Amino acid sequence: MFDFSLTPELAALRERTLAFVRDVVIPAEKDFPAYDVQSPEEIKAMADRLEVLRVQAREAGLFAPHVVKEWGGMGLNMREMAIVFEEAGHSLLGPLVLNCSAPDEGNMHLLEVVASEEQKERYLRPLVAGEIRSCFAMTEPAPGAGSDPALLKTYAKRERGGWVINGTKWYTSGADGAAFAICMALTDHDSASDESKQAVKRSQATMFLVDTTNPGFRIVRHVPSMDVNFFGGHCEVVFEDCFVTDDAVLGEVGKGFQYAQVRLAPARLTHCMRWLGVAQRSMEMAIHYANARESFGQRLGQHQMVGSMLADSAMEIHAARLMIWHAAWLLDNGEQARQETSMTKVYVAETVNRVVDRAVQICGASGISEDLPLSLFYRSVRAFRIYDGPSEVHRAVIAHRILKQYAE
Ligand SMILES: Cc1cc2nc3c(=O)[nH]c(=O)nc-3n(C[C@H](O)[C@H](O)[C@H](O)COP(=O)(O)OP(=O)(O)OC[C@H]3O[C@@H](n4cnc5c(N)ncnc54)[C@H](O)[C@@H]3O)c2cc1C
Repeated sequence: MFDFSLTPELAALRERTLAFVRDVVIPAEKDFPAYDVQSPEEIKAMADRLEVLRVQAREAGLFAPHVVKEWGGMGLNMREMAIVFEEAGHSLLGPLVLNCSAPDEGNMHLLEVVASEEQKERYLRPLVAGEIRSCFAMTEPAPGAGSDPALLKTYAKRERGGWVINGTKWYTSGADGAAFAICMALTDHDSASDESKQAVKRSQATMFLVDTTNPGFRIVRHVPSMDVNFFGGHCEVVFEDCFVTDDAVLGEVGKGFQYAQVRLAPARLTHCMRWLGVAQRSMEMAIHYANARESFGQRLGQHQMVGSMLADSAMEIHAARLMIWHAAWLLDNGEQARQETSMTKVYVAETVNRVVDRAVQICGASGISEDLPLSLFYRSVRAFRIYDGPSEVHRAVIAHRILKQYAE
């Protein structure tokens, strides 16, 4: 009944990804000291350096693993993605090189499921090919949408032949240099068509595809952040009298929150897959250090307290991987798996934080230095306990579902 073995094809793909990340991506990490570059020249230079690696990823048959073949991807299912994304995630650069990093990866999935054929040709195809980047603009400064998306304030007013969007977003990752944004806005339901009126009244939010060349779209600043490793920054952006035509509506008017679930449930899990790679690499660095370094007459790993940290990390990584595989299996079987993806997200986000923290501790001053990537991992992974739903919000939802289930 339970079979955790990989098919020969998947085992070979795993080996190929592992070898590519080890031989091509990790050696190139030194050329990418920080991704959050800001001038147009630096952004272009970074994109050019990235493209050199992406050419090799395409040649190795390792590009856009999550997208169906019809739109230029490798057509992997969630379980196969779990294997490939974890290997790619050994380097923070890996998912970017394989074109399966956030937010593009989640946006590609959303476009695949929801966009019209014309929208797919215009946005999805070049995104999958790695010719453009994208961003997802949902979170707003207080009192707007944050943990609670229902606080959404950005507003799209119906105008003849289109919509005028006004509002401020922040932490729009990757916005600087992106070709388009998927913007979540409340919609003017009074003037919506009769057919969609009901849906608008129920959900009152709509997703719009906004070209960043639109004169109504403006990047205010890169929000300075401890996560410095994001190409295009975590930006504050303003939509100011931003006019878009009707064909900019992604899917149907009023279904924005529904589509957010289409994006978030799998995106949550793919984040876990990538971050698990970081945990595994951190663990391996800690093991090497504990095997090589001596203190008080013995190898570090022989000290019980160090061994205990390694054992805890090994157990938690194993449990995290099994949770990811199980949730992936549920999604592959057509289930929504909301409870399982929520539980997995919380557990993996907290596990990766703990594993990286222990690895820093075991490696001593080297863990803090920039000689090892651990300090970069430490700074980068902290945010995962907040984005895609803070741990506390997931815990509240998980508890609510359990209580409701037993009450019934
Ligand atoms: C690195 C990074 C990248 C991001 N990228 C994007 C992006 O590309 N696009 C985008 O739209 N957004 C993005 N975000 C924003 C992210 O989605 C939000 O930070 C998240 O939804 C939380 O919203 P908030 O920061 O406004 O926190 P708040 O809503 O202000 O909540 C603050 C804290 O309060 C607690 N809390 C909130 N509600 C509850 C509750 N019900 N029960 C118990 N405790 C609670 C939690 O501890 C939470 O962390 C990003 C954030 C980060 C840090």
